[in-house]
Amino acid sequence: MEQSNSFDKIVNLAKQRGFIYPSSEIYGGLSAAYDYGPLGVELKNNIKQAWWKMFVTSRADMVGLDSAIIMNPKIWEASGHVENFSDPLVDCKSCHKRFREDHLLENKGIQPEYDKTKPRDRKGLKCPDCGGELTPARQFNLMLKTFLGPLEDSASVAYLRPETAGGIFVNFKNVLDSMRLRLPFGIAQIGKAFRNEITTENFIFRTREFEQFEIEYFVKPEDWEQHFSEWQKVMKQWCLFLGLAQDDLVEHEIGPKDRAFYSKRTIDFEYKFPFGQKELFGLAYRTDYDLTQHQKFSGQDLSYTDPITKEKFTPHVIEPSLGVDRTVLAVLCAAYTEIEGGRSTTTESNKEKEVVLRLPYALAPIKIAVLPLSKKEHLSELSRSILMELKKKWVVMYDETASIGKRYRRQDEIGTPYCVTIDFESLEDHKVTVRDRDTMQQDRVAIDDLESYFNTKFN
Ligand code: ATP
Repeated sequence: MEQSNSFDKIVNLAKQRGFIYPSSEIYGGLSAAYDYGPLGVELKNNIKQAWWKMFVTSRADMVGLDSAIIMNPKIWEASGHVENFSDPLVDCKSCHKRFREDHLLENKGIQPEYDKTKPRDRKGLKCPDCGGELTPARQFNLMLKTFLGPLEDSASVAYLRPETAGGIFVNFKNVLDSMRLRLPFGIAQIGKAFRNEITTENFIFRTREFEQFEIEYFVKPEDWEQHFSEWQKVMKQWCLFLGLAQDDLVEHEIGPKDRAFYSKRTIDFEYKFPFGQKELFGLAYRTDYDLTQHQKFSGQDLSYTDPITKEKFTPHVIEPSLGVDRTVLAVLCAAYTEIEGGRSTTTESNKEKEVVLRLPYALAPIKIAVLPLSKKEHLSELSRSILMELKKKWVVMYDETASIGKRYRRQDEIGTPYCVTIDFESLEDHKVTVRDRDTMQQDRVAIDDLESYFNTKFN
C-alpha cells in the first residue's frame, strides 16, 4: 500500500510546509540558492545537534572547532586548492550550455580518472541537451574569490573557504597545545563552505553555498587501517540513525586512479536518491599530506611528539566529510511516504492519498501538536495551558484551524510524532487523546501525566 514518491512532490512539500524555500524568490530567485524555513531550520538543527553529540561530546577522543570562513589565502595555496581545485568545463558549440565533463562521462558509465593533466577518452561525447559538438575541456577553479578592504587588486584577494577542513588543519597546533591531547584524536567542525559549481542540480543536492560536517582524525601512520575501518562503521551507524534504509546505501570504494594522489584509500558513501545513486558523504585516508603541506608553506612545526616513546612525527589523517544539506535531502527522501487511499476510516479525508513524513523522532521539527477539537473558549484556554507546559520541554505546534482530520494530515505531512487532542470531555475528566503518527493508535492520557508519557516516548 505504501510507496515512495517522486522527487518533485518532496520538493513541493518542502516549500508548502515551510521546510525549504527557493532563495530570493520575490526577486525572481537565484539559481541553486535555498533558504531553510521554520520547519527546515528545526530539522537541520536537530541533525546538526545529533551529529555533534554522536561525534564530539559523547566521545573522549574528539573536540570541536568553529574557524573563520575567510582565512589567509596562503592556506588554499598550501592545500592545493588554488592550483587544483577545479572541474573540467565543456561548452556545447550549438546551444552554448555548460557541463562538467566528468559528469557527462559518468552518465555514460565511464568513470573519469582523477589525473586532470591526462587527455580523456571522450568516446564520442555530445551535448546531452541538443546533441551538439562539445569544446575540449578546460579546468575551471571552483573557489569563490573576494577582495578584502577597499582595493580590488591581487594583494587583497581572499577566498570563501571551499571546505571546512582547512580551518582544522591550520589550528592543529593550537588545539594540541591548548587541550593537551594524545593521538589518536579528532577535531570536528560544522560550517558553511562555498564552491562556484559549474552546474548545480537536484534542489539542495549541489549548491554553491552549503554546509559541511567535517572531522580530521589524527593517527599514528601505522594505525591508519584500523581507524579507517572504525570510521567506516561509525558512518554507517550515522546513516542508520538518520533513518536511511541499508538497501539504499552503497559504499563505493574509489580506485587508485580516481583517488586524490595523496589518498591511500577513499570510500564514497552513496545514497539512492529518487534522481539517482549519488555521493552523500566521503571517507578518506589523506596520509600526512595536509599537515606536511601547511608545515612547508607556513614554516611552522606541526609535528607531534609521543609522550612515552618521545618519537616525533607528522600525524596521519582519516577524514570523514559529510554535507549537511545532502543529509537533510536524504532524510526527507527516506522519510517521505505516500499512502494510496489513506489510512484512516474515521475522517472525511479517508479517501484521499495521504502523505506521512516518517522522520526519526529525534529529527522531527515538531515533536507534538496540540489540537483543540473546537475553538470554543473553554477548550482554547485548557489547550493553551497544555501547550505552554509541553513547550517547556519540546518543540510544540498549536493548530485550531480546519477539521481534526485535516489537522492530523497536516501534522503527518511534517512528520510530527504525536498529536494531543483536547475535547469537551477533557474539561470533565482532565484527560486528552494522544495520537501516534505511525500506528495511528490513540491513547487517553491524564493531562497531569503528559510529561512523563512523552518522556517515555521520546527517550
Ligand atoms: P561531488 O563529487 O558531488 O562534487 P565532492 O567529492 O567534491 O562532491 P567533497 O569535496 O568530498 O565532495 O565534499 C564533502 C561533502 O560535502 C560531499 O560528500 C557532499 O556531501 C558535500 N558537498 C560537496 N559539494 C557540495 C555542493 N556543491 N553542494 C552541497 N553539498 C556538497
